[in-house]
Amino acid sequence: MKQEQAEHNYKDRFEECYSRFEAVFEYTSAASKIIDSDLKILKVNAALVELLGYSEQEIIGTEIMEYACKQVQHHWQDLQSAMWEHGKPRFKLDACLVRKDGGLAWVHITTVRFQQDGEYFAYTVLDDYTAQKALEETQARLSMALDNSRMAVWELNLSSGQLIHTTGFRQLFGIQDLEPNWRIDQLLSQFIPEDEQRLREVFAAADAEAVIDFQGRVQTHDGVLRWVYLQGRVSPAREQLPITIVGTIADITKEKLAERDKDDFISIASHELRTPITAMKASLQLLEQMKTMESPRAAALITQANRSMRKITLLIDDLLNVNNYKEGQLRLKKTRFRIGSVVEDCCMHVTADGVFDIVSTGDLNTEVEADSERIQQVVINLVNNAMKYAHGSREIGIDIKRLDGSVKISVTDHGPGIQKEKLPFLFDRFYRADISSGQYSGLGLGLYISSEIIKRHKGHIGVDSEPGKGSTFWFTLPCED
Ligand code: ADP
Repeated sequence: MKQEQAEHNYKDRFEECYSRFEAVFEYTSAASKIIDSDLKILKVNAALVELLGYSEQEIIGTEIMEYACKQVQHHWQDLQSAMWEHGKPRFKLDACLVRKDGGLAWVHITTVRFQQDGEYFAYTVLDDYTAQKALEETQARLSMALDNSRMAVWELNLSSGQLIHTTGFRQLFGIQDLEPNWRIDQLLSQFIPEDEQRLREVFAAADAEAVIDFQGRVQTHDGVLRWVYLQGRVSPAREQLPITIVGTIADITKEKLAERDKDDFISIASHELRTPITAMKASLQLLEQMKTMESPRAAALITQANRSMRKITLLIDDLLNVNNYKEGQLRLKKTRFRIGSVVEDCCMHVTADGVFDIVSTGDLNTEVEADSERIQQVVINLVNNAMKYAHGSREIGIDIKRLDGSVKISVTDHGPGIQKEKLPFLFDRFYRADISSGQYSGLGLGLYISSEIIKRHKGHIGVDSEPGKGSTFWFTLPCED
């Protein structure tokens, strides 16, 4: 009687357990399945149906390997044969499955073998981590983008002084060590003393939700001075959580150098403009006093004022032109004209002063299809340079030579010439070969603008020069035979 009772209890408890298992199996959010020793799927739960996107009927009777991505199949099969052929009781692996809609699902898999009524089966849980995988991939892509952008992300715990950062961080400071995280002092000590102190004050003043906006100089280990830009925000104070600053750091050395070049350029330009303006102002003031009397000095002053005016106009023209020529914005108005006519027009203002002689030679009647005003601008610029830099020699030569498919125009002076190592830079923006002497006014734009004009005409521009002998600046224009 007692034994009957015990058997009954045992049976009840078994059924209770089984129905509990059934409920857990069905309703757990972890995708689950049961397979037999032929690897055929016997039972699936709703989570696995949802994960694969197939219906229960479509899945039952298939093998899970049919859904596996190629790259994991081999390893998975090895694990299965270890279980079914060599009696291994369980295995784990990470795998990806191809869903019905073609999308991928990433799962941590745990398979456990069990025995029932003398037969072997296996129970598998497939834990979906697709969202986490996508996040990891996005993070990896972001880090890659950050690494290539001279930028890094950091988080500073203000209470502990701990600093977490992305990989590009150490590169920004030119540091090789493998220490993953830093302390605040390590960061501060990278800066030059003056900027270290400023950054210390910024951090000390950082209270709730403050914005960090700091530019400073770091001295890298290879001795290079680099500019970095730290931006960040103090996280809002939350109960029991430490106050942190999350931000970015970027290398802005290039931008800082460009800014400095621009400042230098503006101060040179203002200086260059001030000199002729002062001279002109003085001449005009004197003329003002003389306006009632007829004086021979008046004529000289007018000449002087005109000369200054011409210099100012040239400087301003260069300044206004430089942006138009940048980035290929120059539009050409082409006509057909005799190249000699441009040379003659250019010579007028030179010969009128009587200081220089222009000797023009060669195929002056050659016709070209070009923008005559722009070409005139180039010739005037080369002639003006010859007058400016070779003022000691009276003669300036202009030679026109027909070549195969082009015409070459050369302007030759017998001035001081230019050193060989400076020749490659003459046509660069703002380049001045002899800036130290301060003897000649200019902005280093004339040859740059000339080269842009010639390039737009599909011609070439260049210089042959020898110190002590003089220079020949030349350009070519395409022309039909
Ligand atoms: P800028 O005359 O305003 O300085 P350019 O672009 O016309 O600018 O010329 C660039 C530099 O090339 C000049 O600063 C000068 O040093 C050098 N250069 C140009 N032409 C001559 C020349 N004929 N002889 C010697 N040096 C020259």
